[in-house]
Amino acid sequence: MMRTAARGRIGAMRFPLAVGYRSGIQRSLLAWFRAHRRELPWRANRDPYRIWVAEIMLQQTRIAVVEPYYDRFLKSFPSIDGLMRARPRDVLRLWAGLGYYSRARNLHRAAREIVTRHGGVFPRTHEDALALPGIGRYTAAAILSIAYDMPLAAVDGNIARVLARLGAVRGDLRQPQRWRKLASTAQELLAAHAPGDWNQALMELGETICTPQIPRCGLCPVSRWCLAHKRGLAGKIPAGRRKRASVKVRIAAAVLRDPRGRTMLVRNPGAHHDALFSRMWQFPAVEITHDPATEVKAHLGEMLRIDTASLELTPLQAVRHGVTFRNITFMPFLVRVSRLPKLPRTRIAPLANLGRIPVSSATRKIAATALP
Ligand code: SF4
Repeated sequence: MMRTAARGRIGAMRFPLAVGYRSGIQRSLLAWFRAHRRELPWRANRDPYRIWVAEIMLQQTRIAVVEPYYDRFLKSFPSIDGLMRARPRDVLRLWAGLGYYSRARNLHRAAREIVTRHGGVFPRTHEDALALPGIGRYTAAAILSIAYDMPLAAVDGNIARVLARLGAVRGDLRQPQRWRKLASTAQELLAAHAPGDWNQALMELGETICTPQIPRCGLCPVSRWCLAHKRGLAGKIPAGRRKRASVKVRIAAAVLRDPRGRTMLVRNPGAHHDALFSRMWQFPAVEITHDPATEVKAHLGEMLRIDTASLELTPLQAVRHGVTFRNITFMPFLVRVSRLPKLPRTRIAPLANLGRIPVSSATRKIAATALP
């Protein structure tokens, strides 16, 4: 019987999904992955809870950064049930420094849903997984394929880059039509007998060999099937995306300190502060346009409803902090007070030990400048 080549079309390219192509690339990549896979804590077993926590932590975050957080988190919350029972502030405290704090809040909310609606077990259907807070198509496919062998291709920027190079697909990969085609090719290429290993193998290839800047094609287990490599285009795919111009922001922060070495933190809702502090506890702070000392004083007066004429502000060392496209300079001031005001949505804590409170890394950096 004649074997027909199943060909998929991506953009202007014909992606050669011939029967031999698919089985050859699957065999080579899976063999390479099984021989070279990195031992990572979330690969110790196929517990869906452990895989779920890892996938959420790894969103926008490098493996080396995630590992210590992951170990601490799992030690404190070894099960979905344990996470569900945790206080939100304890979950946030263990996440403090990892950034993108909505991930922690969603994880916690999802744990409650899993316990109440799915008997405490991560759901097995795509639909149920996607209905959980914080779980998108990529994360659902990654968890379900790795934990439950569900034949779902996971496609994130890393895997899309590998696929685009294999098929010599040019242009912006995030362009919706091109992305959809890459996703459908990913599904066609998926090794249905080992979907979890297949997805992880593509991730691993993208992270270790088919890297964004300089792909190491000489070491690549699938180079013989790679059109970009054959055509000398590997370093040119994907086309560089235009970076959003960075925005400079100056923020003055007031580090109040009483004679007992305690400080006051606030929870300051508002779009701008949310982006920087993720609704975690923070020092009173205000974006400045002219004079930092005058503006932070005015902010304190308004917030604390006190006469600030007698307040003395000592400037501390400026702190630089980057959040996505924002280039932030914090200008902290030490404000010695005889008594800290007690107000709703504020919290008093020892300045030298904010470790038990969910604060962002920006707040930690500011606190460090105020310590003797
Ligand atoms: Fe990536 Fe090079 Fe391998 Fe192609 S041959 S998949 S470009 S590392």
